[in-house]
Amino acid sequence: MATAQVIDHTQRDPWEVALEQFDIAADKLHLDPNMRGILRECQRELIVHFPVRMQDGVVRVFTGYRVQHNVSRGPGKGGIRYHPSVTLHEVKALAMWMTWKCAVVGIPYGGAKGGVICDPKQMTQQQLETLTRRYTTEISLLIGPDRDIPAPDVNTNAQTMAWIMDTFSMHAGHTVPAVVTGKPLSIGGSEGRSEATARGAVYTIIEAAKAIGLDLDGARVVVQGYGNAGLFSAKLMSEIGAKVIAVSDTSGGVHDPKGLDLTKVEAFKRETGRVQGLPGVERVSNAELLELDCEILIPAAIENQIGAHNAPAIKARIVAEAANGPTSPEADRILHDRGVMVIPDILCNAGGVTVSYFEWVQDLQNLFWREATINARLKEVMVKSFNDVLDLAKKNKVDMRTAAYMLAVSRVADATLTRGIYP
Ligand code: GLU
Repeated sequence: MATAQVIDHTQRDPWEVALEQFDIAADKLHLDPNMRGILRECQRELIVHFPVRMQDGVVRVFTGYRVQHNVSRGPGKGGIRYHPSVTLHEVKALAMWMTWKCAVVGIPYGGAKGGVICDPKQMTQQQLETLTRRYTTEISLLIGPDRDIPAPDVNTNAQTMAWIMDTFSMHAGHTVPAVVTGKPLSIGGSEGRSEATARGAVYTIIEAAKAIGLDLDGARVVVQGYGNAGLFSAKLMSEIGAKVIAVSDTSGGVHDPKGLDLTKVEAFKRETGRVQGLPGVERVSNAELLELDCEILIPAAIENQIGAHNAPAIKARIVAEAANGPTSPEADRILHDRGVMVIPDILCNAGGVTVSYFEWVQDLQNLFWREATINARLKEVMVKSFNDVLDLAKKNKVDMRTAAYMLAVSRVADATLTRGIYP
């Protein structure tokens, strides 16, 4: 799978960012201080250190995490990422964002996330399989089809999920497809899951364009990141008639104001492992790419990309966060003041976990749906959630992130309060 990480410019701790975003909404909601105290912490944080046999008998010890932020609304749900810069604070932030994401689109899950500190680019398939199987065993204390259900994230994919499913099933003594989502179709995966994050993001972009009166036909789109979310976002935006003028991966970006030929970009990336170097187009750095003249900017890489340092220079009218946590709270304020509509991550990229939910439901029922059904149900969820958030933003005169948080936090607080404090 293509990677999507980009240099971290601002170095803000993602957990601090997550707490600051939560506090803004909690203030607006006048949230009870006891509830605030509960929701500001993660319920469970598991740290694991485990050995993996590398080449020539060398054994390396890896560190991994699985965190559950809040499981009041249902089992934990969230991806697993493999990246050299994974930290406990990053995984906690990502778990908290999953709680809000599931709540904002109304699917019955709590928030969880996992990660392993490793550089998959420097590892063989065999080493990745061994690492995945041992990490699965270590976190099997927490995961399970009705407890906590992992999925793909940065640098993990359907094959990774197949190894997790197989390892968990070997321990259980029978096949347990519903323990992970984002699996290959042959073992209980769902139609439409690979494109789901991007497809969901595009549905929200269509609604945002309507809201601000932007014609998407020929609208210029810039995509940062060429992993699952970035690649499919570019493709789907061009399918609906927009013009993708720039894309990037870890090593940098390419720009053509007349519009990129995405088939050529994809073929070049497949051949060389990068998008830069594609003949006949301009090279741009990841930092320059964010500031290009365009109507729609889709950050689809990792956290900390848009901060106070570059928010004033963003030209886009819509920033659609296919990535988790790309924008800092300072940048949010700057963009809001400048009239840029930010479709926040917990709404914009919720299509991935929504189709994960569909996959889980199909696995539990052993009854599989057609792709058209999946996409129609996904559209219904995304369009309704976008408009619920937009209405709330207008009513409370707040930006879209604050509105999405207000909706999500009130749903989670309600579930937590209704269940009560045990014992
Ligand atoms: N990793 C994706 C996300 O951040 C998907 C999570 C899931 O499907 O559980 O939303």
